[in-house]
Amino acid sequence: MHRGRFCRREFIHRVAKTGAAAALAGATGVHASGQDAPAETPAPDPPAAEPTTPPAPPLARYFGVPAETGELPCTLCPRACKIKPNARGHCQAYTHNADGQLESLGYGKIAKLAVEQIETDHFFHVLPGAQAIFVGAPSCNLHCTYCSEWKMSQFPREKVTTEDIEPSALVEQVGAQGGKLLGFTYTDPAVALEYATDVAVAAREAGIHPIAHTAGYIMPEPMKDYASVLSAINIDIKAYADSTYKRLSQGSLQPVLDAIRAVRETNAWLELTFLVVPGYNNQAGPIKEMCKWIVDNCGPATPLHFVRFFPRYKHRQYQTATTPHVTLKQFRETAYEEGLLFAYVGNVPGDVGESTLCPGCKEVVISRVGTNIGGPNFDPKRGLCTGCGIGIPGIWE
Ligand code: SF4
Repeated sequence: MHRGRFCRREFIHRVAKTGAAAALAGATGVHASGQDAPAETPAPDPPAAEPTTPPAPPLARYFGVPAETGELPCTLCPRACKIKPNARGHCQAYTHNADGQLESLGYGKIAKLAVEQIETDHFFHVLPGAQAIFVGAPSCNLHCTYCSEWKMSQFPREKVTTEDIEPSALVEQVGAQGGKLLGFTYTDPAVALEYATDVAVAAREAGIHPIAHTAGYIMPEPMKDYASVLSAINIDIKAYADSTYKRLSQGSLQPVLDAIRAVRETNAWLELTFLVVPGYNNQAGPIKEMCKWIVDNCGPATPLHFVRFFPRYKHRQYQTATTPHVTLKQFRETAYEEGLLFAYVGNVPGDVGESTLCPGCKEVVISRVGTNIGGPNFDPKRGLCTGCGIGIPGIWE
């Protein structure tokens, strides 16, 4: 994993310093003009401190009316939790508060922040080679048996260390570093959707592309609302059979397909990721069906990434194998046969399947060897293959 110019701790420290500087200015008699107050004028006694009202808790945006039993329905994700007073939903990220409203516990809470090259998150048609600042909130609404961030996603939230960062402060710091991309990943943005949305809106206003990687286990309306403020989104399809979905993540397939369709109604650039787990979701038949579904419902120009699996979390104990290289190559061929124009293999540095081929002349237009990116036949200003002039869709500038 590539690390960038500043680590999470340093980033947070910078935010803290900015806030501290502003507070000091008020306490030392520095005028708004930046000049010191004249020495002969004694400073008046400061007024007695007014009691401050604590900020209102951040409310969730997607909940219904309480039932006669007092349970409050959360309408954000397909789990459709009915939450008793003072209790939390299945994901631990939303609570039924004393006012009978649903409160977001994830608002402003960042459990991980890192700078990584955009390709590490399987975005191949978005600013190739650019560095992105990625953040993640604690908890998750799925329980993937291979989650690489399981200590963030599956631990009780009180055991996950977080830092508080307001959307504007986060965006300001990304802008100050010259960042062009700010993304939610690591865990699912669903567990802090209100925060992720506010961050995305603030990023857009600052000229930064907001992006997200999600499992898409979100109801169509909130999914569409969130995607509407994003520049690009990558959605995982974890299996193309409901029983396997449950086995791998305790989720289900149809809601994810519905969420993907909801995203297609927005202008967000969409890429899809399929992690190939040997013995679970690696049957040729469902893969072929999935590729057909993508062509029919998302369009042939939707990039699809078949990503190599390495055993992590519970799969170390299960002794699940690493995905054979040949399987990834076969699935990429299947995708082309079914009509997709951009199919990739992931986590196989040096394989031509990591490069973008022109659907017209079949030449490499954007080459990738690990994090080394080249554009031998690509005009990023016009988004064209320079060999045959065909347009390559994506966000290139
Ligand atoms: S977002 Fe959380 S609280 Fe809401 S329905 Fe899903 S799991 Fe339940």
